[in-house]
Amino acid sequence: MEEEQMKLLKELSESFGPSGFERETAGVVKREAQRYADELTFDKLGSIVAKKRGDSDSPRILLAGHMDEIGFVVTGIDEQTGFLTFSPLGGWFDQVLLGHRVTVRTSSGPVPGVIASKPIHLISPEEKDKVVKKDSMFIDVGASNRVTAEKEFGVRIGDPIAPWSPFATTRNGKVIIGKAFDDRVGTFVGLEVLRRLKTEEIQHPNTVYVAGTVQEEVGLRGASTVGNLVEPDIAVALEVDIAGDVPGIKSSQAPSKMGRGPSICTYDAMMIPNQPFKAFVIETAEREKIPYQLSVDPGGGDRCREVSHRESGSSLHSDRSSNQAHSLARRHPRRR
Ligand SMILES: [Zn+2]
Repeated sequence: MEEEQMKLLKELSESFGPSGFERETAGVVKREAQRYADELTFDKLGSIVAKKRGDSDSPRILLAGHMDEIGFVVTGIDEQTGFLTFSPLGGWFDQVLLGHRVTVRTSSGPVPGVIASKPIHLISPEEKDKVVKKDSMFIDVGASNRVTAEKEFGVRIGDPIAPWSPFATTRNGKVIIGKAFDDRVGTFVGLEVLRRLKTEEIQHPNTVYVAGTVQEEVGLRGASTVGNLVEPDIAVALEVDIAGDVPGIKSSQAPSKMGRGPSICTYDAMMIPNQPFKAFVIETAEREKIPYQLSVDPGGGDRCREVSHRESGSSLHSDRSSNQAHSLARRHPRRR
């Protein structure tokens, strides 16, 4: 990947944008999209749609990636200790939370903190073998009581929280480590399509709409408003897949493997893609010698389902991120 593209992926990954609080990520998407698109429109929830005209008004092709990430919201501040209680925004696996560093975004700026629980020294041997549930965790921002947390740190109930996870590459430079690849990678791929159409002056017999949607992790909300805004003939959801090359996973559970090319989701619990369109994508990949993998997601259902449901157009759940999904799958196993 070119240095400039890697820089953009880093900026997208590190940007703060839990569901409902996507403003910072949306700012990056808007800045990039307006360099290459003919026109930008916004829905009232905060999603962005960039239009790139081709030789024909139709078919209208929508490529959508969601900008939001899973995070939390502050639900309380302990009077005596200043510790924060929190509720999840999106699906979290309790076991990955403890020890995670986070950022609380307050009206007076970012506040760093750590997710913690009762110290190991003070729990009984039986308790040590049990999973600590989120309800018994708290966030330590270093405030000594509620008044300090509120007055000095500026924390208020309802403030959003995101994981703090700086972007890095592995030793061989081939895999990236970080947060929010679900679905900043999809957002990045959409922007990359816009950039190449424009800078390489690619002729296309259609109109392409690239969308950065909001609030996917809390119920696919942005995808439905964008579907109504664009009224696409064809919609492609740019999403992450589960990398199956992890110890203890059978290939029938997650057939995609890291580094073997984009996954084409052939079926998920909520959506079966348009079959001629699926065949067209596969034929194109084979003709152009683009590596691809056929994937299934029997337990999930994603934005594609919502867009296709609303628009009854052709749709296909696509993915360019098996590499990145690998580390994502390890860090934040997706909800089921
Ligand atoms: Zn997603």
